[in-house]
Amino acid sequence: MFEPACARRADLVGAGLCAEPSFSLRIFNFFILAFGKMLKPHVIESSVRQLRNYLLYNYNSWRGREYIPDPRFRINIETSSICNLRCRFCAYVKKTTPKMIMPDGFFQNCVKQAAAMGFYHVGLTPMTGDVFCDPNLFDKFAFLESFDPIREYSFFTNLTLPTRDDIDRLLELRKLRELTVSLYGHDLASFTAITGRGEGVYRRLLENLEYLVSNLSKVSWRPGLGWRSYSTLRVKPDPALKRIFKICKAAGIRVSRSQVYNNWGGFVGRDDLGGLPIDINENASVYKKGACCMLLSSVQIMANGTVNGCSCRDVNGTLCIGDMNSAPLSGILTTSNPVYLGLIEAQQCGDFPEVCGNCDFYKSIYLAGRALQRAEGESITLREFMASY
Ligand code: SF4
Ligand code: SF4
Repeated sequence: MFEPACARRADLVGAGLCAEPSFSLRIFNFFILAFGKMLKPHVIESSVRQLRNYLLYNYNSWRGREYIPDPRFRINIETSSICNLRCRFCAYVKKTTPKMIMPDGFFQNCVKQAAAMGFYHVGLTPMTGDVFCDPNLFDKFAFLESFDPIREYSFFTNLTLPTRDDIDRLLELRKLRELTVSLYGHDLASFTAITGRGEGVYRRLLENLEYLVSNLSKVSWRPGLGWRSYSTLRVKPDPALKRIFKICKAAGIRVSRSQVYNNWGGFVGRDDLGGLPIDINENASVYKKGACCMLLSSVQIMANGTVNGCSCRDVNGTLCIGDMNSAPLSGILTTSNPVYLGLIEAQQCGDFPEVCGNCDFYKSIYLAGRALQRAEGESITLREFMASY
């Protein structure tokens, strides 16, 4: 019989095995962080958010409020763990998991198993990699388009690989719900410094981007642009990029810019940045309380078939909860799986594995209204999750 995590947690706290983080230490840490970094706006904003989170998580925990997005909305499938860029801030170069393309038959099997469990959205964004490194990408799209139980899919791409024909085919996809282009740098020099790739790739990106954003009038999917460059207050985009931003603005395409980079669960740090003016979140600067929603509602089937408890930051698969080469998804993605249950309970007790302990992408179950995923339906509590999954 299942023993609720909150009850277990109370036992563990009572037994002195589940340490609560000290309030004064947390407050001290984030003020030191803010002042120590010369009061940069994003550092101040992050510190204020930490304080808000501390108060919010504890208040919601005290009130017994938990907000887990629909665990059967999105299954993430990494079709390509290969990338053509070498971004300085990214864990891609350092990861030890295989760099490979998921075979089409295996992909279809994963999708069918996920659909049988109630999933209806497929997230194709690799943990690190780019979907267009897969020579059979459009065969995979064709399968998703024709497979009724899957209603929609989405992905991010650096858009440096597709041809004009590929983009024309993208414009025709019916079930694609969201496509976000990740854009790095603000001119050729910064693009090259960040991604390690040269002028040819940069020009192809600009051409692709301009063509894409100029031809969106007929698409049914939602486009987005995630722009990252140096962490300085003012960067001056080159004229071609400015023109693209103008088209985006006129077309109502969302361009989001972030000035601080994730640390990949502590996997990437300042030493990896080659002296570029990029700010990266330092390890463990994020207040954590309760299990992470990513573990409960955004797992990933990696390109080699292992099922990772996190779709976003654990590049080396240390949160592996099973392998689809040897077990069905329904036997892995269930609290009857002791490995999965153990991870959830440990997080709920504040016992975070190394990658989670260092992670700045953590999404607490005590935070409401997150845009973690646009799942339909109500969020659920941890007790409901444990009872149903
Ligand atoms: S950030 Fe994206 S595009 Fe850059 S190396 Fe990593 S996976 Fe590739
Ligand atoms: S804490 Fe970070 S690494 Fe751990 S499950 Fe959440 S997002 Fe993933």
